[in-house]
This record gives sequence, C-alpha cells and structure tokens, in this order.
Amino acid sequence: MMYRDGLRVCIMSIIMVFICQWSVFVFGGVEGKGNSHCIMSAQDAADIKSFEFKIDSQSFLKYSSDCSNTRLTQFLLSLKKLRALKFTDIPKPIDNEVTRALTRPWEFLKTKHFTGFTFVPSGKIVASYNANGTINIANHYFEGDIVKQLSTIIHEAQHSEVTAPWHESCYTGQLIGSAGACDSVLETRLKLAGSYTVEYWFLKMVVHAKNKIFGEKSIIAAGLRTNELVAHRFNHVFEHAQNNDLVVVVT
Ligand SMILES: [Zn+2]
Repeated sequence: MMYRDGLRVCIMSIIMVFICQWSVFVFGGVEGKGNSHCIMSAQDAADIKSFEFKIDSQSFLKYSSDCSNTRLTQFLLSLKKLRALKFTDIPKPIDNEVTRALTRPWEFLKTKHFTGFTFVPSGKIVASYNANGTINIANHYFEGDIVKQLSTIIHEAQHSEVTAPWHESCYTGQLIGSAGACDSVLETRLKLAGSYTVEYWFLKMVVHAKNKIFGEKSIIAAGLRTNELVAHRFNHVFEHAQNNDLVVVVT
C-alpha cells in the first residue's frame, strides 16, 4: 500500500513536472522573468561570431518570450542592419566632422571603447552604457522602429568615447531641472560630441540621405526626433551662420 501510494505520488510528480515543462515550452519564458528555455539558432551563432563586439547571447535568450523569434535574433538583426548601413552622401547643410564620421556607422562604432552588448530586463530604460564597458539593452529597445534602435546604439556607444562629455542637467526645454537629461552643446566637432549630438547627426543623415535606406514612416519619426532633441536635449545649440561660422542660437 505504501509502495502504491508512493508510486502514485511519484507519477503525479512526473505529470506535474511534465505539465510545467510543457507550459514553458509552449508559452516560453514570461517576459522579464528570465525563465526562457530558448536555444540559440545556428544562424544566430554564426552572426555572433561575425561581429567585432561581444554579445551576451544567454542574457538575450533568457528573457525571450517567443523562441521562434528571440530577443537575440531581433537584436542581431538590428546589428546586421547597422553593419550594412552606408550613407552615400552628406548634404552640405549637415556636412561636419560628426556626420563625416557617421557615413559608415559600423566603422564609427569600431572606434569606440565599449566591448559588447548584454540584455537587462529593465522596464524603465531603452538602453544604457555600463561602466564595465558593455551596452545594456532593455525591453523598450525592442518597441522602437529600426531607426530608433540604431540611433540608440550610436548614442550608447558614444558614451564609451573618452573625450565625449557626459550628460548634464537641463537648463532649458521641457526637461528643465532634470539631472543627466541633456547635453551641454549640440556640437559639430567630433572630439567634443556628446551622445545626444551623435544621435542627432545620425538621425539627420537618415532624414537627408539621398539613397532612401529606411521607410517613410521611420524617416518622418527620425525628423521629429531631431526636432525634439534640439528643443529639449541641449542646453546650447549652434547653428551655421551664413559665413559658415558657428553661432549660439540658444543658451
Ligand atoms: Zn545617454
């Protein structure tokens, strides 16, 4: 009798374990809970090998809810798009040191000092630069369109540049008083360019590129974002004067 009871408990346990395993398999990991059993595809493994940056593949897989289209696959797709991106021309009004450096965004990234990418399940941020040299990618990253994703990588990568000034409090705009929400200056000189500066010029390249690389919707969104950056993310904005000197228009 004890043996039969024990056997029954044992069988029930096996059934319960099976049901739990099955539900994880069918529904995947719960977003943000990090219990996914997704396995890296051969294509993703090959892509990771081809990049110059380290990708913490397990962190992306762990928080994936759809094993047929993991966070890892989605992120690698945006990296591949960034690697293939080339702006064929720089229109005169936006020709400066920063835009010249961004004509091949992947080459720009390779000059920076971050080491790679990892996924962090934060519900508050899109991405962040970690002092240990990695760029953290968070949930909101995957909600943005491709241009937003690529400009985010460019922004975070610039944080690893030793000469780049860090964000500061906003003295103007909607975010006035917010610590670390603004750059001091919208620059045209590469060495002095902060993260919002490179993000701004990257988006300008997207908007003005003759070879229409991105869809109309993305280009419109990029244009709106440049307006938003100028209005609310810089304490000082420079503008080309007619004699090509730089003048301060907002202080
Ligand atoms: Zn930043």
